[in-house]
Amino acid sequence: MKEQLYTIPVNEAFDKDCECPVCAMYESLEQGALEFTLGPSYMEDDIRMVTDKVGFCDRHIEKMYERGNRLGLALMMKTHADRTINEVKKLAGSAGSGKTGLFKKSTDAADPLARYLQDLEDSCFVCDRINNVFERYLDTMFYLYHSDSAFQNKLKNSKGFCNRHLKDILNRCRTKLDAKEAKDFAALVTDIYIKNMERVRDDLSWFIDKFDYRHQDDPWKDSKDAPQRMMMKQDSVFYENPQN
Ligand SMILES: [Zn+2]
Ligand SMILES: [Zn+2]
Repeated sequence: MKEQLYTIPVNEAFDKDCECPVCAMYESLEQGALEFTLGPSYMEDDIRMVTDKVGFCDRHIEKMYERGNRLGLALMMKTHADRTINEVKKLAGSAGSGKTGLFKKSTDAADPLARYLQDLEDSCFVCDRINNVFERYLDTMFYLYHSDSAFQNKLKNSKGFCNRHLKDILNRCRTKLDAKEAKDFAALVTDIYIKNMERVRDDLSWFIDKFDYRHQDDPWKDSKDAPQRMMMKQDSVFYENPQN
């Protein structure tokens, strides 16, 4: 069966005026995943079984708290805590029994309880829900690049990508496109990235110059939100519309 394509949301992300359309895709999925998690679903047994087990990452527990469904969040945290306490009790006897020696990963040497806690730290119901579809969105982006000249134009006219997502799409393009097309794609997105990083860097320069009294009466031009936009570019803070 052909994998499902998500041409509409991917096109919408590239239509947005933002510093990274891949961040925009992620953000729309994240909003949906947060809404789902804090919607009626948290009362459903099969969903709760999963949230009890995997819990949430720091980013998403904070985002859910901001959304204000305190009762829903409290109920999920309570049964997640019940489950965690049970697991820790089961493993308590083996705490401190980890092997010693040199291991490739620090978790290989950890005792079973520490390893359980590490796995818990690395797992998140919201991240999992996003990532399953996010992968398909990226596949759809390559499909559109391959087959749709209107999309190619959108890509060319986009404002480029953040560091993290440029890395992600460069790593992926060789498995999603044939060799020649992958090379062209990589050259194109790298070129767009450089031009747009330079644009935001120049905005940031003007933002800094504006603090000089000699420029105090000059216009801000596009530099007022330059620090936030550079954070989106460099620090992989996922795109969040400053107007929201
Ligand atoms: Zn990004
Ligand atoms: Zn998460």
